[in-house]
Formats: sequence, structure tokens, C-alpha cells
Amino acid sequence: MNVIDLRSDTVTHPTAEMRSAMAKATVGDDVYGEDPTVNRLETEAAEMFGMEAGLLVTSGTQGNLIALLTHAPRGSEVIAGDKAHIILYEQAGMSALGGIMPRTLPVQEDGTLLLDEIEQAIRGDNEHFPRTKLISLENTQGTVGSVPLSPEYTRQVADLAHNHHLPLHIDGARIFNAATAYNVSPAEIIAGADSMTFCLSKGLGAPVGSILLGKKEFIKEAHRARKVLGGGMRQAGILASAGLIAIHKMSQRLHEDHANALYLSEMLKDVPGVRVMSQHTSFVFFWLEETAKLSPLEFSTIMREHNILLSPYPGFERKFRAVLHYWITRERIDAVITAMKTVLR
Ligand SMILES: *Cc1c(COP(=O)(O)O)cnc(C)c1O
Repeated sequence: MNVIDLRSDTVTHPTAEMRSAMAKATVGDDVYGEDPTVNRLETEAAEMFGMEAGLLVTSGTQGNLIALLTHAPRGSEVIAGDKAHIILYEQAGMSALGGIMPRTLPVQEDGTLLLDEIEQAIRGDNEHFPRTKLISLENTQGTVGSVPLSPEYTRQVADLAHNHHLPLHIDGARIFNAATAYNVSPAEIIAGADSMTFCLSKGLGAPVGSILLGKKEFIKEAHRARKVLGGGMRQAGILASAGLIAIHKMSQRLHEDHANALYLSEMLKDVPGVRVMSQHTSFVFFWLEETAKLSPLEFSTIMREHNILLSPYPGFERKFRAVLHYWITRERIDAVITAMKTVLR
């Protein structure tokens, strides 16, 4: 790869080891439950997180939607953050396809929802009210800068949910980044949640897929929801073989991306016209000042001519996001900084 692509960790390609595992994967018909590699991935992912069962799904959006449809019947309400992926970036799937009403609470700078606001949002028993059926958190919380939620906070939300006989779902697209940031195991970071989705194809580098985890009965129902959403796949062991490398091996190197994100944020401080806004896990947000030599569009166009891809953050002209991943080495960060200093000087 000659292009230094900092737009997202979704741009990563499968590693050479993944490609070779994919070529050799043992497969079967997963709609019959007969793909041994899929079964192994689902079991091993569940074990890692201390969950009973797992389900390979086509994407994070599909995994979240399946979880929502399975936890919450039509006409019920789901409590979620107003900056959550399920609210902002999933086409209101829960409402469009599930007849579920989201009840949004403000996401704080640290990615949390306030505990007393969650408590107050839970509906009492009243004929006029929809029934609250789920609380949903996002970890890491992407829109505020991929901020990791602590296991202690998650445990408090899980306890609160359970005191009200409600399940807790975590959209854990980047949950391994959160576990890495707190230096705890995958099971510890989800701290009592009832279901969780995570992406195999972001920083973990697999080509396709997410995993939904939960209790056995929940996953059995989720299996039906996956089918109606068109997510029943056949010889999906080809994908699952890359997923196994993602969870066992690629998850172990995310601290490098976090260290590189910190390094990038430090180096950006010396670039004229740039103000670093935040660095958490593998994300760096920076702001191109009004006083910068180039407009945001000129800046991204000229960087592209230097083979460096950076995207302005949707809805903010001057805000940029850089996401670190296994292609972005120290040398490449140095190359990015040199290019930025040249074009913004
Ligand atoms: C990427 C992501 C998802 C899922 O997105 P897909 O593109 O459908 O895989 C869900 N939640 C968060 C927080 C994400 O970052």
C-alpha cells in the first residue's frame, strides 16, 4: 500500500496470514449450522467475552439491528445516546424495521450517559407509556472521539438496568480498543452486559463481518432475525477463518495503534494551522484553524496528491479525523507530518 489512508480503520485489508487461512478454511453450510469454522469463531468469541453464545453477522449495523429486534418488541422503547451509531448512522433501522422508538439521552464528553438520566428515562408501568425494553451503550463511543468506557461505569449501567429487569446491549464495534485502553480482558470490559456486537473488519483487519454475543436463548432468537434480514450465509467459514485471526491475534496489537495515535497527536502540535482536539484509543481529531494557509478542501486535495488520505468529519468543515491501524507505522506518521508541514507552511 503506497497510499497512507487515515480516513478509517475500515480501509484495512486482510493480512497475508488471513488470506492463507481463508484459502485453507474448512467450510460447510452455515444456514444448516454446519460450517465448522463459523461455529468455532462463534464459540471462541463467546468464550473470550464470557458470554454463552455468538452469531456471525454481515456487519455491525446488522448485528445491532438484530439485537434491537430481539430485545425490543414493536411499540417499545430503547434508551440510547443521542450521538450513538445506532441513532446517527443506521438509518433508524430500529424504527423503520422494528417499530421501536428510541429515547435518546445526551452523550457526555467522556462517552457516558448520566446514570440518573438513564434512571429517569426508564418508563414506569402506565397504560399511556411505551414500555422500556433495553438500554444501549456504545464502547468505544465513536462520535466523541472513540472514547473508551470503563468497566466500572459499564458495571454501574448493567446493575441499574438489571435492577429494573432490563437488558444492557453494548455496540462494541471497537470493544477490543476499549479493553486495550483499560488493559483489561474482553470479558471485564463488557462488565455484565447482556448482549454485545463487535466488528471483525475495523482495526482487527478481517474483510467482512461482526459478531453478536449473548445468552443462548437470545442468540437462538437472534438467529431467526438474522435470517429475515437476509443475513443467512452459506460457506461463511471463509470469512470466519479471517475472523479467528482477528480476535486472537490482531486484537493483541491494538496498543501499537493507540501509541501511534498518541505519537501523531504530539507531532501534530508542531504543524502550523493545526489544533489537536482529542486523542483517544486509535482516533485523533484535529481542527484546521481559520488562519491556516489552506482551506479544508485545498488541504485534503493537496494531501491526496501526496498519497495521504484524510477526511473532514461529516458536518464539520474544519474538523478532521485520523484513525490509526496496522498499516500506519511510525515511519508513515513521520511522512504524514513532513507532508503536512510542507503544505501548511
Ligand atoms: C462501524 C460501527 C458500527 C457498524 O458499522 P457497519 O459499517 O455496519 O459494520 C456500529 N457501531 C459503531 C460505533 C461503529 O463504529
